[in-house]
Amino acid sequence: AVSLSNCTASLHLALKAVGVGKSDEVIVPSLTFVATVNSVRYLNAKPIFCDVTNCNDLTLDTKLIEPLINEKTKAIIVMHYAGYSCDMKKINDMAKKYDLSVIEDACHAPLSEFGNKKLGSIGDIGCFSFFSNKNISTAEGGMLVTDNADIFEKVKLNRSHGMTSLSYDRSRGHSTSYDVIEFGYNYRMDDLRASLGIVQLKKLEGDIQVRSKVRRKYIKSLSGLSKVIIPFKANINKSSNYIFPIVLKDSSVNIRDQIRFYLDSKGIQTSVHYPAVHRFSIYNSNKIKLPVSEYVSDNLITLPMYSSLTNLEVDYICNELSNALKIYHI
Ligand SMILES: *Cc1c(COP(=O)(O)O)cnc(C)c1O
Repeated sequence: AVSLSNCTASLHLALKAVGVGKSDEVIVPSLTFVATVNSVRYLNAKPIFCDVTNCNDLTLDTKLIEPLINEKTKAIIVMHYAGYSCDMKKINDMAKKYDLSVIEDACHAPLSEFGNKKLGSIGDIGCFSFFSNKNISTAEGGMLVTDNADIFEKVKLNRSHGMTSLSYDRSRGHSTSYDVIEFGYNYRMDDLRASLGIVQLKKLEGDIQVRSKVRRKYIKSLSGLSKVIIPFKANINKSSNYIFPIVLKDSSVNIRDQIRFYLDSKGIQTSVHYPAVHRFSIYNSNKIKLPVSEYVSDNLITLPMYSSLTNLEVDYICNELSNALKIYHI
């Protein structure tokens, strides 16, 4: 594990470490935070967008990946949405068949599992974020994990200017000089944030256990609403429940926005994870179509999710959502 200044740095160094460079292609989801995709562009490589499975499974559709692979493809970045895993068995099999690297954007998924494996430890590299709104936070911070010793050494060099020894080693008298052998960056996490992270890490497991209770309460309270899809409802793997998204059936972006506005007027803050990246101005050039990602982007609402949310509050949220669905006729 290599601590870093944030997860965007982690994704950047991960792609660099597996050898992604100019004109290479990397398969990415569009239903993710933009940093997943920007990291590909940092290396002058080309992100190739892939759709997600359906409204019940917001991770990459493994059936759609293979047709996107060609001789320029170097890697796949998967994103474990809300702490629910991509089909890592199929992804790893495909990566093996075509000699691709697999990078897990595990920002949503600390301690989450696929089978009995922790997300972030299944592909070649896992990337985590400790930004202020994540499951654990150091305000800004990130981590790269790998079981490949070469990747580990490359990332450590690139984290700190490509220098062969660091101030810490020099101050301990181990080394008086250094060489620079990589065109590196300053992507270090500082000691102050690391000390916050150590304390936060101890609280993570307990927090996640309470979140899964909050999720169960939501599922019960929403069960009467026929227009509400709860993604990953049938998933049995352990999840961080980083967020609690719902997708509205037979809806539109206009209806969704009005419902969000109504909830806001009742004191309920919501969000949207995510506006599809391929529709942003800087990515919109080739006019590709990703029907599921686009529908989800337009019709998803992220409801409040945190461990101190009470059953009464979940009932209040679900009642107001039910009222909003009636008002806006869906
Ligand atoms: C937060 C997040 C990032 C970026 O992490 P930073 O630490 O803010 O750079 C990347 N991908 C996903 C899915 C995220 O949620």
